[in-house]
Amino acid sequence: MSNSEPRLNFIIVGASIAGLASAIALKRSRHNVLVLEKETILGGTSVPPGCARVPPNGSKILFDWGLRAQTKGSAYTSLAFAVYKSPDLDFMGLNTWDPELLSEARGDFCDIKHQDLLRILYEEATKPSTQENLVPHVAVLFGAEVVKVDCDNCSVTLLSGEIHTGDAIIGADGAYGPVRRMLIEAENVDPRSCDTPTGMTLYSAKIPRAAAIDHPQLALFYEYPKCTVEMGSNRGAFTASVGIENDIGLWVYTPDSTEDGCWTRVAGRKLVDILDAWDPQIKMLASLAGPATCVQIKDHHELESWVSRNGRVIVVGEAAHPFPPAALHTYSVALEDGAFIGKVFSHTRDRVRIPEFFNAFEEHRRPRCMQIREIEKRYIELITLPDGGRQKARDEAMRANHAAGRNVMEVPGSDLQQMVDATRMIFAYDPSDDADEWWMSWGRLRDSAKAATE
Ligand SMILES: Cc1cc2nc3c(=O)[nH]c(=O)nc-3n(C[C@H](O)[C@H](O)[C@H](O)COP(=O)(O)OP(=O)(O)OC[C@H]3O[C@@H](n4cnc5c(N)ncnc54)[C@H](O)[C@@H]3O)c2cc1C
Repeated sequence: MSNSEPRLNFIIVGASIAGLASAIALKRSRHNVLVLEKETILGGTSVPPGCARVPPNGSKILFDWGLRAQTKGSAYTSLAFAVYKSPDLDFMGLNTWDPELLSEARGDFCDIKHQDLLRILYEEATKPSTQENLVPHVAVLFGAEVVKVDCDNCSVTLLSGEIHTGDAIIGADGAYGPVRRMLIEAENVDPRSCDTPTGMTLYSAKIPRAAAIDHPQLALFYEYPKCTVEMGSNRGAFTASVGIENDIGLWVYTPDSTEDGCWTRVAGRKLVDILDAWDPQIKMLASLAGPATCVQIKDHHELESWVSRNGRVIVVGEAAHPFPPAALHTYSVALEDGAFIGKVFSHTRDRVRIPEFFNAFEEHRRPRCMQIREIEKRYIELITLPDGGRQKARDEAMRANHAAGRNVMEVPGSDLQQMVDATRMIFAYDPSDDADEWWMSWGRLRDSAKAATE
C-alpha cells in the first residue's frame, strides 16, 4: 500500500462506543471518517447517567491508543466481586480477579461513567493534529439523523434531506438503528416484530455515594470490593462502583416486563417500585437512587450477514450483535469491533477491496461475538436461577469454594469453571492481532496475486 494512494472515505452512523472506536481506529490507519449522530449532543440530552463496565480486553484497547491516563483517571478499577444469595443477602463468597490473568490480558477492569467513556473516545477521535496536511480527517456531525441508507450509491440521507456519500458505510447505530433495520428488511423480515422478549427486564440506576454512606447497613455496597452480585429466584441484581466519584450503580433483573424502555428515556417507574421479594438493603439502596432506565431483555433477530450484498455497508457493535442490556462484555466487544476494523483497513486504500475486508471482519468477529453473547446469557441464567435443585447445587459449590479459600466461581469440571476459563480466553484476545492474522494468512496473499497480474 502506498501513502500516495487516496484515503478511503468512511461514513459511520452512530457516535457511541462502537462508532467512535471505529473512527479512532480508522483515523489511526489514515482514512477519512464522517460520523453521523442523531442526538444533538454527545450521549444525548435525556439520559440518566449510567455506568460502562469495561473489562481488560476493552481497557487494553484504550491503553494501546494512549488513553490509559484518561481512562484510569475517570474509572474505578475493580479488583473483585462478592456474591450473595437473595432475599437474605447471605454471603456466598468472593471472586478476586487473578493478577496473572490481568497481566496476560494487559488491561484492567474499569468501571466508568458511560458519558466519561464517550467523552474520552470523542476527544481522541476529533483531536486536532500538529501535522494537519498529513493526517486524515474525522468529523462528527450531531443532530444528523440518518433516515435512509442506499447501498448501491453508498450514501445516507438525513432527516434534513442532506445526502452524504462515501466509499463505505459502517452502521454503529445500535440494535434499533437504520443500518441494521435496512439489513433486516433486505432479508424480507419485519424489523418491528423480529425480536422476542425473554420476559425479563433490566432496571438500572445510580446512587450517590454521599447518600449511601449515611447508612452503615449499606456498607457492603460501598466498601471493598465495591462490586456485588445478588442471586435471587427468577430475579437478580448487581452493583458496581461508578467512576472516580465511587457512586453506586445498581442493576436489577426482574420478571416484571410491563415496560419496554431504552437507555435514553427515564423509566415510568422508580427502581424501588419494582422490588418486591428483595432484601431490605437492596430496597434501601434503591430508595436512594436517581432516575432509572429499563430495557427489556430480548432474543434479537440474528442477521444472516453483517455485510450488505454489494459489500459496501457493514454493521458493528450492537447493530451487528445486540447483547443483553448492561452485559459484562458489551462495551469491550464494541471497542474490539472498532479496533479490528481500523486495523484491518491499515492494509489497504483500495476501494475495490472493501467488500473483502468487510467480509473478513465478519468472518473473524462473528464467532467470538456469538460465543460471548451465549456466555452473557448464561451469566443472567446463573444469577436468576429459580430456587430448586440447580440453585442448591450452585450455592453449595460456591460456599464450599469460599470455605476452602478459593474463588467463588472456581469449581473444577463444573459449568462455573467453564465460565471462568472462557473469561480468561475473552480477556486475552487482541483485535489488532486477530486482524493482522487475517492479513498475513489471506489478505496479503491476494494483494500479491493482484500485483502479479497487473
Ligand atoms: C445514550 C446511551 C446511553 C447508554 N447508557 C448505558 C449505560 O449506562 N450502561 C450500559 O450498560 N449501557 C448503556 N448503553 C448501551 C451501550 O452503549 C451499548 O450496550 C454498547 O456498549 C455500545 O454499543 P454501540 O456503540 O454498538 O451502540 P449504542 O451505544 O446503542 O449506540 C448507537 C448510537 O447510534 C445512534 N443512532 C441510532 N440511530 C441513529 C440514526 N438514525 N442516525 C444517526 N445516529 C443514530 C444513537 O443515538 C447512538 O449514539 C447506552 C446507550 C446509549 C445510546
